[in-house]
Amino acid sequence: MRIRRISVLSPVALAAFLALIAVSSAAADRRSAIGHSVAGRPIVEAIDRAPRARLRVLVVGCIHGDETAGMRVARRLIGAAAPARVELDVVPTLNPDGVAAGTRGNADGVDLNRNFPFAWRPLGGGEYSGPHPLSEPESRAARNLIRRTDPAITIWFHQPFGLVDRSGGDVAIERRYAQLSGLPLVGLRRYPGSASSWQNHAMGSTAFVVELPAVVSGWLVRRAARATLALAAEYAGAEIGGATPAG
Ligand SMILES: [Zn+2]
Repeated sequence: MRIRRISVLSPVALAAFLALIAVSSAAADRRSAIGHSVAGRPIVEAIDRAPRARLRVLVVGCIHGDETAGMRVARRLIGAAAPARVELDVVPTLNPDGVAAGTRGNADGVDLNRNFPFAWRPLGGGEYSGPHPLSEPESRAARNLIRRTDPAITIWFHQPFGLVDRSGGDVAIERRYAQLSGLPLVGLRRYPGSASSWQNHAMGSTAFVVELPAVVSGWLVRRAARATLALAAEYAGAEIGGATPAG
């Protein structure tokens, strides 16, 4: 059975709603769907853009549906104002069907973090990589978003290892996030078809994985969110290779 949940707001009502949140909140001044899941759930992006933004930072709170702690970090970031000169783009989950079902993969059983084009190869079982690269609407939505916005820094939240993965981007950025968050910087193996490896190779920007622990306290959620904002604030004042100023 396929579940379809599509917004029932008419364009007029949606415009009124967006205008309302634009004036009622300093943070997250724009929300939209970057695509839909296999089962038709919207994949939501919230953007908060500081005046004269010159650094775009993308945060994806969840790609594996059974690793949802990063969505709590994402919600805190959506409630926070973007630091000066930063555009903060937050996708709470790229895998809403997996979150709803409590599964790692999407509704097709595909591990979305093995479905990206760089070093993709056929994998089965729990890491089923799909019939071909970008076979899934969720991974295509992420690819399109990243191609369109070219974030200088992207953070992908996972669980349960409790570390910052040396993921193949600018290691200084990864190390700084590790310092700010209090999580150790560790090099996991590079997984075929992962989103961060694709970004680091195809886009030339820095994308890295933050593995939150299995059990995540409210304190760590706040610390991970603060670390994200502090990292963005610091790098908004520096040039980063591959960065496209958001302005
Ligand atoms: Zn994961």
